[in-house]
Amino acid sequence: MSLIKTEALILRTIPFQESSSIARMFTREQGKIAVIAKGARRMKSALRGFLEPLNYIEAIYYYKSTRDIQTLSKIDLIQAFFSDNPVIESNIFGLALLETVDKVVHDHQHDHEIFDCAVQHLKLMDAKPETCRVTFIRFLLALTNILGYLFEINNCPRCRASLSGAVYNPGTGQLICLDCGQQFSAGHRLSESDIAFLKGSESDSQFQPVNHAKLLRMLIHYLSYHLDVSLNLKSLQLLTDIKI
Ligand SMILES: [Zn+2]
Repeated sequence: MSLIKTEALILRTIPFQESSSIARMFTREQGKIAVIAKGARRMKSALRGFLEPLNYIEAIYYYKSTRDIQTLSKIDLIQAFFSDNPVIESNIFGLALLETVDKVVHDHQHDHEIFDCAVQHLKLMDAKPETCRVTFIRFLLALTNILGYLFEINNCPRCRASLSGAVYNPGTGQLICLDCGQQFSAGHRLSESDIAFLKGSESDSQFQPVNHAKLLRMLIHYLSYHLDVSLNLKSLQLLTDIKI
């Protein structure tokens, strides 16, 4: 048995027995793990209140490879994301980020790059809640890069034409040029501004706003397609009524 000290993001917590909690967390050192926090729901427990999703913590726990659930010893709070801002939307996108991490990272897959990327984007969302949607899209883009599924956004894979506007082909998970994608409906078309956004540059066309909702749907489909996981994010369903 060893004692592990690591930064972590709380993904989910459930009550266990009378006064304990079991938390799933994404740790920087060991990836996703489950920990039991004994007595954490007692009023006087030093662990009380720290095991909430969207908390960024430093955890110390006893680790034994033969155990499915490790034993939490100590927690220090580094940052409680969104605790100061009542904007529901930023909370929802923060939770969507955690849900994405939970779905794309395998158990025991430790990946400093994904962890740091998640923390960096949560910090951005917390600092600028009004841009949380754009930050979440940027996070998904960064994730495709880290996972090795970088978008081909410069040239059409069929005819090699340079992409300004494009069509997302859900059957192949690729962006193709407007000529090659004529048979696809308008719902799959991305404007010049959308493509410029994906490239991280500004569009010359000031009159075309970036369609963030469309980019978000496309990126979620893109990741689901290439990673072969269902990224049907429950957190974002909360937003469907108020148009993501
Ligand atoms: Zn083409």
